[in-house]
Amino acid sequence: MRKYNFSAGPSTLPVSVLEALQKDLVEYQGMGLSLIEASHRSPEYDAVHSTTLALVKELLQVPDTHEVLLLQGGATLQFGMIPLNFMGQGGSCDAVMSGSWAKKAIADSAKVGTVNKVFDGKDSSYTTLPDNVTTTAGAAYLHITSNETIEGVQWKNFPDTGDVPLIADASSDIMSRPLPIAKFGMIYAGAQKNLGPAGVTLVIIRKDLLERCPDSLPAYLNYKTHADKDSLYNTPPVFAIWAMGEVLKWIKSNGGLDGVQKLNEQKAQLVYDTIAAHGDFYRCPVDPEVRSTMNVVFRLPTEELEKQFIAAAKDKGMIGLKGHRSVGGCRASLYNAMPLEGAQALADFMTEFAKAHG
Ligand code: PMP
Repeated sequence: MRKYNFSAGPSTLPVSVLEALQKDLVEYQGMGLSLIEASHRSPEYDAVHSTTLALVKELLQVPDTHEVLLLQGGATLQFGMIPLNFMGQGGSCDAVMSGSWAKKAIADSAKVGTVNKVFDGKDSSYTTLPDNVTTTAGAAYLHITSNETIEGVQWKNFPDTGDVPLIADASSDIMSRPLPIAKFGMIYAGAQKNLGPAGVTLVIIRKDLLERCPDSLPAYLNYKTHADKDSLYNTPPVFAIWAMGEVLKWIKSNGGLDGVQKLNEQKAQLVYDTIAAHGDFYRCPVDPEVRSTMNVVFRLPTEELEKQFIAAAKDKGMIGLKGHRSVGGCRASLYNAMPLEGAQALADFMTEFAKAHG
């Protein structure tokens, strides 16, 4: 029996996608070989590549002003590529310091130039976000993290940044809701939460910004290289892109981003309501206005009870509920592929556990 996997990433994938990949893995659609053994210049791979790109554009309604790229190196490589391409040595950028992932992005930008923290959530232990932000004159971009996977805070509306391009790390909530792509200079995400297995990184970038990428950069590190070659400059992560295409087809067949958003809100509501219903036992530290629909973080009265809770959940086939080691506590990740029944099973278990130990 498959477990309910509440891990923060890599995370649960739709069973029908896993089955479709399994069915075609050994011999891909009459080729006489697997797609992952075939040339990435083959017509069969070309069809997969272009289908995946087209589905990204369709589901997120990417306007013609923006380019979609499929890269490697995870969101982590983007932390470095962004300042190298857009800030340049000695330049400056703005950033919202919203939690653990923003911190990593900021650390890499600070290796290239000056980072102005236009908001720092430190005083609230990263449990809230600013209503709006003021950009700094001369900033090359403003970087935000649309969903902090570890602290469980999520932007509900995105700030207006005028002429300063807004760049967002959307690794843990991409494709979970519609996004105003035109508002962003760039938006990027590692795949292993809502898009598929690790190995591919989605980058959506405003075309005019490509002109700012310096020719002095090594080829792979320059966004222009990938845009000019339709993300086929070098060997792409074939399996990850194929799987991502299957995940995107699954999203489309589930009502697109409006459909998954509705379900994601329902699932998150179930768990947040359970926390509220047993407020003397569970506690969510996050500002209710910015609670994440993807990563629900909560505490129990003691660390000992948290350990017991995580172990008892595991015995019932619910795994991945331990909070990140840097913050402790519990965390339920409810990405697109977590079914409503999974969130319901967790909510029921939480109620039972609170009654037995409260
Ligand atoms: N940003 C966020 C918001 C994340 O959740 C993660 C991964 N958990 C990363 C960046 C790093 O992603 P990767 O491992 O793909 O480099």
